[in-house]
Amino acid sequence: MYELNNGIKIPKVGFGTWQTPDGDVAEESVVAALEAGYRHIDTAAIYGNEESVGRGIKRSGLNRDELFITTKLWNDKHSYEGAKQGIDESLKNLDLDYVDLYLIHWPNPAGIRGEFETANSEAWRAMEEAVNEGKIKAIGVSNFHPHHIDALLKTAKIKPAVNQIFLNPSDAQPEIVSYCQEKNILLEAYSPLGTGKIFEVAELQTIAASYNKTVAQVVLRWSLQHGFLPLPKSVTPSRIKENFEIFDFVLTDEDMEKINSLRGTAGLALNPDETTF
Ligand code: NAP
Repeated sequence: MYELNNGIKIPKVGFGTWQTPDGDVAEESVVAALEAGYRHIDTAAIYGNEESVGRGIKRSGLNRDELFITTKLWNDKHSYEGAKQGIDESLKNLDLDYVDLYLIHWPNPAGIRGEFETANSEAWRAMEEAVNEGKIKAIGVSNFHPHHIDALLKTAKIKPAVNQIFLNPSDAQPEIVSYCQEKNILLEAYSPLGTGKIFEVAELQTIAASYNKTVAQVVLRWSLQHGFLPLPKSVTPSRIKENFEIFDFVLTDEDMEKINSLRGTAGLALNPDETTF
């Protein structure tokens, strides 16, 4: 477990669900993840699968307090009323009384470009209220650069607990990472496998073979050894299990360095001030 800056514990690996089709696939993959030992699920309103994720959670039979569930505010709801509505809709879809973590998904959506500071501040105020009402345990951000966080901190009463960003050996976003580490904001690593592109990187195949591990396990281990919280996604039971078997080996400093140098080999993060959505 990592500990968030508000004292809440968060399991070190989360299960990703972006592009996981709604319905049986999402439900079954969540059941498979919870059977494999994951206790942390990452979804979002925009993924369109919150209801199926919620059904998977129920079917697992696990107690709510053993689980850590994250969802996110979509780009059409960056206002006080919008966020209040978004939170209630997600809770209803997931069929939960509370979520453990709620994130502003993108800092500067195209629809409010130029007004993000006020928009995020208003959404954040609704999120803080939801914390006080017990609907959310921790709040954070996603895809935020330092200038977006600086702006948010001007009015925030609760500091963001996490920043969930594109983070893998192909783009380790060092400026955002050092800024967040300095501020004790935990980095969650999304697309830890480069949305599937990381498997082509020859250097990683060589390193993986030397540990008798897979490329997925090596890059997820790299993420943990940096103190990041990786969020691997899969709908394939054998891969779901494989991606959780990363606690029984340690990468050497030399291999960490080699992996650190793989910038640009499997895609780069989007610039959140230039997205079209
Ligand atoms: P990812 O986890 O980097 O990669 C997933 C892809 O790799 C899928 O195609 C999956 O295939 C494949 N895969 C998974 N494990 C594998 C293995 N062991 N061997 C071979 N192939 C494997 O992808 P991601 O969805 O981009 O990122 C992960 C999660 O981060 C998301 O699901 C979401 O929860 C979060 N995320 C957040 C944001 C944001 O803006 N906050 C953006 C992107 C992602 P199968 O599924 O077919 O097995």
